Amino acid sequence: MTTTDIAAGIRSVNHWIGGKACASESGRSGVVWNPATGQAQAAVDFASVEEVDQAVENAHQAFPGWRATPLSRRSEILFKVRELVDANRRRIAEMITLEHGKTVSDALGEVARGLENIEFACGVPNLLKGGYSEQASRGIDVYQIRQPLGVVAGITPFNFPAMVPMWMFANAIACGNTFILKPSERDPSVTMLLADLLKAAGVPDGVFNVIQGDRIAVERLLEHPHVQAISFVGSTPVAKFVYETATRNGKRVQALGGAKNHMLVLPDADIGMAADAAVSAAYGSAGERCMAISVVVAVGSVADPLVEAIQERMARIQVGPGSEEGNEMGPLITREHRDRVASYVANAASEGALVAVDGRRDAACQKSGFFLGLSLLDHVAPGMRCYQDEIFGPVLSVVRAASYDEALRIINANPYGNGTAIFTRDGGAARQFQFDAEVGMVGINVPVPVPVAYYSFGGWKSSLFGDLHMYGPEGVQFYTKAKVVTSRWPDPAASKVDLGFPQSR
Ligand code: NAD
Repeated sequence: MTTTDIAAGIRSVNHWIGGKACASESGRSGVVWNPATGQAQAAVDFASVEEVDQAVENAHQAFPGWRATPLSRRSEILFKVRELVDANRRRIAEMITLEHGKTVSDALGEVARGLENIEFACGVPNLLKGGYSEQASRGIDVYQIRQPLGVVAGITPFNFPAMVPMWMFANAIACGNTFILKPSERDPSVTMLLADLLKAAGVPDGVFNVIQGDRIAVERLLEHPHVQAISFVGSTPVAKFVYETATRNGKRVQALGGAKNHMLVLPDADIGMAADAAVSAAYGSAGERCMAISVVVAVGSVADPLVEAIQERMARIQVGPGSEEGNEMGPLITREHRDRVASYVANAASEGALVAVDGRRDAACQKSGFFLGLSLLDHVAPGMRCYQDEIFGPVLSVVRAASYDEALRIINANPYGNGTAIFTRDGGAARQFQFDAEVGMVGINVPVPVPVAYYSFGGWKSSLFGDLHMYGPEGVQFYTKAKVVTSRWPDPAASKVDLGFPQSR
């Protein structure tokens, strides 16, 4: 869409380059919808290749000065960023709600979990402490230091427009890199607010930049010779493309993809607690979370009472605009996505599943926004499309398994491996599941096991391409490269030529 196609007078969302907002001259832009009303509310610039190059050049120029900035000063600035984000929690959350659609309380949770990453990065002097081995050989010391990579880029999805950028930029800039963010074009405004806060906190111009746009911007970042590393979070096909393209161009890459998270419920589980967890984790944020539970695997006799308890709870969830007090689930991100999600419910019966609750019948669907009620599909089997695809909406499937072994086989055969959870009162069974599950993040009676910021986040299999998980200690490793120094200060009088390979004496 060109800028002139978008209604005149609409707010525009620009780039942030070199410490200020810059309107695009590309002549291309996208619509930012208000999912709760179905109306266009802003136009977001789509960067040209030249604009990406301009942002990268700014970041490249800013790198030597930032890298040389003392750790204590970088830490002080990050403390200030933390303070400003904390003071603006509500403003950030309301902006997320306006463009994403999630409820304000959910958006506040997103900000809180993002803030954890800034708090972690405040400890950068400690995180970058290297190792030192005195007397590794006679009179020789060996030590390792970690140095920043240079310009690094982050490409983020729509579902966490503030938290996922914080997963990336906090560690990236704390470690001394300069950063280019390419946010989702669907809810981009919050990144401009974050840019403003970073500047107010004292982050020097050029250290943090935002490029708005679509695949043209992404593809330029993946090939730009000054960009050293790419962090990506989004759907699996794009993650795979980003990983393959950027690694081919010699870049370090961590690309987190989609998910299909299973919650295993054993016969001894507390039914009420498991049902509470399933409903919260499946329908929170309208199911648009990469750690949402999308499949309950009910073992044996637990299935019937569990499905009943889930249905009881679903009936009480209030769907409506996320900005209105009392609503627990908002709309989906776009009309097209809502229709795609609804199509899985429409097709489920013909695949052999039982549509226990049909969210298309919810009164909220009559509203003008992109609403869809909560759906429950029972007797789902792994061959069905509703099981195989990542639906990314308020649709929970129930798969019934005869035993723990059968349930485990189903979970481990799934191509995704982001998160999983087990609900049981049996510690031994939970310990066995933790050992057996081929999944990156496991919850034991915890349905959404997003690790705290001082661990790292990442899935296995088709949920992550690359070696290192995101944020926490692995994030620090990702954004730095190791240098090992071997040092001696001998008496020159004892110096002699020795053609032998150096070895400890
Ligand atoms: P998406 O893949 O459509 O977009 C992610 C980013 O990639 C956006 O910035 C977008 O502009 C860009 N992009 C989209 N298509 C592209 C293309 N063809 N070429 C280059 N760039 C492209 O994902 P989304 O719809 O914004 O987010 C939802 C997806 O993200 C879900 O699959 C969800 O599971 C996943 N996700 C995963 C995690 C995780 O940690 N594993 C976290 C959040 C979201």
